Amino acid sequence: MPDLLELREVSVAYGNRIALDSVTLGIAHGAQVAVVGPNGAGKSTLFKALVGLLPLTRGEIRLHGRPVSEWQGPVAYVPQREEVDWRFPVTVYDVVAMGRYRPSRWLRRLNPEDRRIIAESLEQLEVSSLASRPIGELSGGQQQRVFLARALAQQPHILVLDEPFTGVDLATREAILELLKGLRAREVTVLVSTHDLDLASQRFDEVVLLNRRLVAAGDPQHVFTGRHLQQAFGGQMMVVDGKVIVVDQCCQGGREREVGR
Ligand code: ADP
Ligand code: MG
Repeated sequence: MPDLLELREVSVAYGNRIALDSVTLGIAHGAQVAVVGPNGAGKSTLFKALVGLLPLTRGEIRLHGRPVSEWQGPVAYVPQREEVDWRFPVTVYDVVAMGRYRPSRWLRRLNPEDRRIIAESLEQLEVSSLASRPIGELSGGQQQRVFLARALAQQPHILVLDEPFTGVDLATREAILELLKGLRAREVTVLVSTHDLDLASQRFDEVVLLNRRLVAAGDPQHVFTGRHLQQAFGGQMMVVDGKVIVVDQCCQGGREREVGR
């Protein structure tokens, strides 16, 4: 069976600047995948290309073996917090209700089934009590929950979350992880970008290590090696499996040096 999602030599540039360089990658149906890489690695660019918000400079993305443009099934995308204009005067309920609209039925009214799904989504992310509040007034964690509720209301086959764990409280972090568990049973394919290598290796089936180019992809054990981490993060410090690791640039091929827990 072909991968659900296939990227073939995908490049994306902003003007002359190449942000993603010839990335080839397959993602299996139902997999939960963490995308990891330093700032500016192209994680957000990859996600925007996947959901059709950015044109490819080269290469192609196929879904179910077909060009992504032909795909009608729901793909839900939650952008990085910094990319959302939170001053937009809209209530929590309205944000989640947006999940029930499709371009083809834009002017349609919400039916009872939509309302039930909206209520359930608010409930699942524990934001029902905030329904009438303007989104801009909420905390970072609450805003992230509302966006997740909207994504859930879309009943997606593919869920793409750009740094959902950044700038949220612990309870929200747990709520997101619970949500991901629930989606497993429904075989929703999930892509999440994160800076947290620990989380990536412990809670995801596969990791994609990116630094403009694809450094490695697959199970965390095989991806998070000293050599790969050096290629992706060179010289930076990070935490894997509870260990603080300095990726040492001096050493050929990269070598991890454990400096403490
Ligand atoms: P990440 O999400 O991994 O931090 P991004 O995908 O946001 O990385 O960015 C990848 C590269 O593309 C960076 O060098 C960034 O500065 C550049 N970039 C991102 N968005 C734009 C944009 N709208 N215009 C120009 N350059 C951009
Ligand atoms: Mg980003």
